[in-house]
Amino acid sequence: MVDKYGRHIEYMRVSITDRCDLRCRYCMPEGCDKVSMSQILTYEEIVRICRAASELGISKIKITGGEPFVRLGCTGLMRDIKALDGIEEVTVTTNGQTLERYIDELKDIGIDGINISLDTLDPERFEYITGRGKLDKTLRAIGLAAESGIKTKINTLLQKEFNEDELPDIASLAFKYGIDVRFIEMMPVGAADAGTGLSNPEVLRKLMEVWPDLEPDESVHGNGPAVYYRRPGEKGGIGFISAMHGKFCSHCNRVRLTSQGELKPCLGFDTGTDLMPYLKGSDDELREAIRRAIFEKPEAHSFSDAGNAGDHAERRLMSQIGG
Ligand code: SAM
Ligand code: SF4
Repeated sequence: MVDKYGRHIEYMRVSITDRCDLRCRYCMPEGCDKVSMSQILTYEEIVRICRAASELGISKIKITGGEPFVRLGCTGLMRDIKALDGIEEVTVTTNGQTLERYIDELKDIGIDGINISLDTLDPERFEYITGRGKLDKTLRAIGLAAESGIKTKINTLLQKEFNEDELPDIASLAFKYGIDVRFIEMMPVGAADAGTGLSNPEVLRKLMEVWPDLEPDESVHGNGPAVYYRRPGEKGGIGFISAMHGKFCSHCNRVRLTSQGELKPCLGFDTGTDLMPYLKGSDDELREAIRRAIFEKPEAHSFSDAGNAGDHAERRLMSQIGG
């Protein structure tokens, strides 16, 4: 459907849990609060919301969290959403720690894409930034996902004085596996300090020093705002998601559903529509609540201008909202 600023909204990121097996410092630091399971949408409720959203023109769903694979039965949910009329694409975002167990099932479901987060290739740094993760598990997951034939992407958050020196090594995984590696700018949400992040124009400049033949790639790689570059003769692409330095709000196509049933039209604001009460009503009422929330999507985020969001700047953790 079209929102009040004329944008076509066709993509919903669905967070199925605020829990995670890792504790990435910028997302879900040690000791953070967790939501009780009784406040979380059931799978039936998620499917019902996805069905209503699909009737309004949402055709692409991303399953996220928290870490989606820590919630029991999540692959069954993916199968059910995939079977909905009007849903053309179901993809998933994961830290890769347990992906090995699910890869065959994901292939069987016909999942349309797997995004795997990877910030460093150094085992000690990996354990530091994720609180408890094992690098070898995520690397194995990347290899298996790439081999499986499912469209695979790596998502990397670069931080000054943490992993910026690894930029070319991480980027070269794109060429090694023939997949996309995307650099995501740190957003000032929850525990994150955007000041620690590296700007994507800077990342591109550094990559051009290593590979002067990098050239813009206009072909469509996904649903989102990433801008891509490629190297002649290489299969994989290097993507840039620049929420801070390349504000893409004017063609934003997405909304977010939190695990507690809030439909969030914009990541930069703490506002949203609580769909829980509408789940007690008819399908028409639920669909109308979703339609209104999408229509009222804010014109732009306010990350670089806290005053714009006023008291409504988003302060919840990324794991609670759904990244
Ligand atoms: N657990 C899964 C994972 O790590 O991919 C899915 C959820 S996680 C919140 C999704 C993505 O959000 C990860 O790639 C993570 O790096 C990113 N993320 C978390 N906090 C962020 C922030 N403040 N700014 C930008 N990206 C962030
Ligand atoms: Fe967990 Fe993903 Fe957040 Fe890391 S980024 S704490 S893996 S939800």
